[in-house]
Amino acid sequence: MLVKTNGDVSFWYADIGGVPAKRAPLPGDQQADVCIVGAGYTGLWTAYYLKKANPALSIVIVEREFAGFGASGRNGGWLSGGFEWSREKYLKNATRAKVIAMQRAMAGTVDEVERVTREEGIDADLIRVDKLLAATNKAQMVRLEEDYQFQLDWETPKESLAILSAAQAAERINIANLEGGLLLRNVARVQPAKLVRGLAAAVERLGVTIYEGTTVGRISKGIVETDRGTVRAPVIIRATEGFTAGLPGHERLWLPLNSALIATEPLSEAMWAEIGWKGHELLSETAHAYCYAQRTREGRIAMGGRGVPYRYGSRTDVNGQTQQATIDQLHDILTRLLPQTKGVKIDHAWCGVLGVPRDWCTTAGFDEKTGMGWAGGYVGLGVSSSNLAGRTLADLILKRDSELVSLPWVNRKVRNWEPEPLRWLGVHSMYQLFKLADQREKGGLEKTSRFATLANRITGH
Ligand SMILES: Cc1cc2nc3c(=O)[nH]c(=O)nc-3n(C[C@H](O)[C@H](O)[C@H](O)COP(=O)(O)OP(=O)(O)OC[C@H]3O[C@@H](n4cnc5c(N)ncnc54)[C@H](O)[C@@H]3O)c2cc1C
Repeated sequence: MLVKTNGDVSFWYADIGGVPAKRAPLPGDQQADVCIVGAGYTGLWTAYYLKKANPALSIVIVEREFAGFGASGRNGGWLSGGFEWSREKYLKNATRAKVIAMQRAMAGTVDEVERVTREEGIDADLIRVDKLLAATNKAQMVRLEEDYQFQLDWETPKESLAILSAAQAAERINIANLEGGLLLRNVARVQPAKLVRGLAAAVERLGVTIYEGTTVGRISKGIVETDRGTVRAPVIIRATEGFTAGLPGHERLWLPLNSALIATEPLSEAMWAEIGWKGHELLSETAHAYCYAQRTREGRIAMGGRGVPYRYGSRTDVNGQTQQATIDQLHDILTRLLPQTKGVKIDHAWCGVLGVPRDWCTTAGFDEKTGMGWAGGYVGLGVSSSNLAGRTLADLILKRDSELVSLPWVNRKVRNWEPEPLRWLGVHSMYQLFKLADQREKGGLEKTSRFATLANRITGH
C-alpha cells in the first residue's frame, strides 16, 4: 500500500501545520530546583502539578528534540483511563483494596485531563466517547466475556461496561464478521499532538523553562549532563519512556516496543453513512495482534497496531518512519474490519516507541536520598496514566502524604530485561506465536489458543 507521507514524526503534526520549530537549547550551565528530562506528557504533567502546588519552584525541562517528539505526539489518542497491567503482580506487594484504589485513580485521569484542558484553554479535540472492543471470532468473544466478568470482579462499576451482541456492536460501527463486543463507557478521544503542545505552552505560562534540541547524556545525583551544559538540581526526574534504554545505566530497564499507525484520507459522508461510527468510539479488535483506532476530528480513520515489534539492541526509529511491511499489515487489518474502506487512500504512516518493563507493569517512583525520580513503563497506556504519574511525582517530591503516594505502582522495583540476543528473540517469538494464535482462532478455535498463552509465558506478560 502506497502512502503519501511516511514518518515526519506523525500525522498529528501534519494536522496542525507541520513539525514545530524548536525552542532554544540550554544556554550553558544552569541551576534549578527541579530538572526534568523529556518533554512528553510525563515530564510536562509533573512540571504542571509541581508548579501549581508551589509556584516558587524553579523548574527546567531538557528535551532532545521538541516537546511532544516522542510517543506523546504520535499515539492513538485513546484517553482511556484503563488498567491493563497485571493486577496479580501488583498484589505481590499490595492489598487488593490498594490495587482497586490504583485502578480508580487511573480511571479518574480522564476527568482530570478534561478538567485541565478546559481550565488551561488547551484545544486537543477532546471528546467524551465510548470504547468498543470488537470480537470477530468466537475465541475473541469468549475473551471479551471473561474480561467483562474480570472487570466486575475487580469492582469496575457495572454501569460503565456492557457486553454487546453482534447486532448491537454493528449499530455502533459496521465491522465485518462481528461476533459481538465489549463496551466501556465515557472515556475520551484526543488529538495527541494538540494535547502535548498545549500542555507545553501551559507549563511555560506557569513559569517552567523548556530547553529543546538538548541531549542528556548522563543523569546522576544532583547533575544532568547534556551536550549544551550541565543542569544542577536537587531533584531530577527521568521522563524518557521508550527512549530510556539510550541513557547510560538504563539500557535494559524498559524495552522500547514499537507501535505504528496509518491515517486515511478524510472519508466521504456516504462512506461514513455505511460505516456508522457516529459516536466516535475508540475502536479495537480483540485479536492478539491487536489494533486501536479513532475517528479523527476531520473524518479520517487513524488505526494503529504493532507492526515490526522491536529493533535489535533497543534501537528506536528515525523521525517516526516505519517499515512498508508494517503499513501493509495495518492496511490489511483496516480493510478486513471495514471492507468499505478498500479504495480509500492512506495519507500518512508513522511509528513510535513505548516503554515496557520486564514484568509489563508500570511504575512511578522517587528516591528521597538521591532526589531522583521517574515514571513510565506504561506499556502503551500513557495518555491517561502519565497524568496520574505527574500528580504522584509532584506529591512525592513535595513530601505530601497523599493517597496517591501509597498506590501499589509507587517505588516498585522491577528486574531488568535479558541481554541481547535474548531480548530480541523473546519479543519476536512472542509475536510469531501471537500470529499463529490469531490464525488458529480465525480458523474456528472456540477458545484462546495455547500459542498465545505460551507467548505470554515466554515474555512474562
Ligand atoms: C504509536 C503509539 C501509539 C500509542 N497509543 C496510545 C493510546 O492510544 N493511548 C494511550 O494511553 N497510550 C498510547 N501510547 C503510549 C503513550 O503515547 C505513551 O505512554 C506516552 O506518550 C508516554 O509519555 P512520556 O512523556 O512518558 O514519553 P514520550 O512522549 O516518549 O517522551 C519522552 C521524551 O523524552 C525525550 N528524550 C529521550 N531521551 C532523551 C535524552 N537523552 N535527552 C533529552 N530528552 C530525551 C524524547 O525526545 C521525548 O520527547 C502509544 C504509543 C505509541 C508509540
